[in-house]
Amino acid sequence: MSDEAMTADGPQLAEHYHQDIAQDDAKAGEVARKQVAGGGHEGGSPSSGAPHFVAPLSYLRPVQTRALSAGGSGGSRPGTRDSKQMTVVDREQIEGLRAIRAFLNVRTSYDVLPLSYRLIVFDTALLVKKSLNILIQCGIVSAPLWDSKTSTFAGLLTVSDYINVIQYYWQNPDALAQIDQFKLNSLREVERAIGVNTIETVSIHPLRPLYEACTRMLQSRARRIPLVDVDDETQREMVVSLVTQYRILKFVSVNVKETQMLKKPLRDLHVGSYSNLAIAHMETPVMDVIHMLVKKNISCVPILDSQGTVLNVFEAVDVIALIKGGDYEKLNLSAAKALELRSEDFPGIYTCTINDRLDTIFDTIRKSRVHRLVIIDEAKQLKGVLSLSDILDYTLNSSLGDDGSQ
Ligand code: AMP
Repeated sequence: MSDEAMTADGPQLAEHYHQDIAQDDAKAGEVARKQVAGGGHEGGSPSSGAPHFVAPLSYLRPVQTRALSAGGSGGSRPGTRDSKQMTVVDREQIEGLRAIRAFLNVRTSYDVLPLSYRLIVFDTALLVKKSLNILIQCGIVSAPLWDSKTSTFAGLLTVSDYINVIQYYWQNPDALAQIDQFKLNSLREVERAIGVNTIETVSIHPLRPLYEACTRMLQSRARRIPLVDVDDETQREMVVSLVTQYRILKFVSVNVKETQMLKKPLRDLHVGSYSNLAIAHMETPVMDVIHMLVKKNISCVPILDSQGTVLNVFEAVDVIALIKGGDYEKLNLSAAKALELRSEDFPGIYTCTINDRLDTIFDTIRKSRVHRLVIIDEAKQLKGVLSLSDILDYTLNSSLGDDGSQ
């Protein structure tokens, strides 16, 4: 197979996976809009430049002023204090974390997959430009690669790879004609030429514990991991599907009731990023924002006004709309103009404050397709970023007590 997106038998397929996801997205949009209407957050259409804002507390209950502030009883992460000094909230937090870890150890990636799903796999002989069109048409942001010459899995194509092509173009604008001819199998050379990370090749067997899939993603900083099995008859590799950090955390939020025990506020947990934040302004050239994404290996850059108020967030996936159709001219736009290219069904910006707790954040993940939460204060000033990888890292790797056990 050469120039086509592959939907054939090497990697096994079924039909509705991404439709399910697309439905999730639609629901997320609905929830976001409802929350804006009911919760008093500012809203507006994506094209007006004012995105919807949704916060976990707006789902559940008013802000509580429990005595857990720094210097009070809850000033440390579970396990960092003597167990005799632990409060009920500390103990419950640990119990909740233990329950999630135990669950992830006994479930596999197969358990996360819907009964019926669609998987789109790209042949490595596909043109980069065509692959981009197919992603847009199918409403997806990544695809496993298949080398049909060797009948092997060839890594995962993600938005980072398109960002690398953008960077290559930016450094070699005269090479546009050549860039148009790039096939997916030449991406590694492009990536080597600009000295960045090459295509993600990490994968996992779908029957391995989910815990291991999470660990592998955290170690490689991958936000999704392909599931690769071996066909019993042919002994050849077979791409089964892929799982994302979002899917796993949603699976946890739906199935582990102990997520409701995670009642310590973010301000008492070392979870998320609060310093050296990469930020931009509406007038910042979008190429500068893209350079920030690459330099820090992050997936979003909050867009602030001159007072530090969060106006929007530029996400790595937003680059797809920017280079749609192989038109690289839009890379000269400002961040504001680039954000106007977002599709109308953009679900909104998810926010939280340092008073929010993981129980409500897991509720948000259960209800909506969240990729990160921007941490703000009451005046919408930027305080930090809480990404799904931060939540996963805390859930798996925070200490559970004096014995240091996990
Ligand atoms: P992500 O790219 O969302 O998976 O995040 C990877 C890590 O980078 C996480 O620890 C985030 O908290 C952190 N991070 C995400 N966005 C930013 C940003 N704009 N500035 C600094 N750190 C960030």
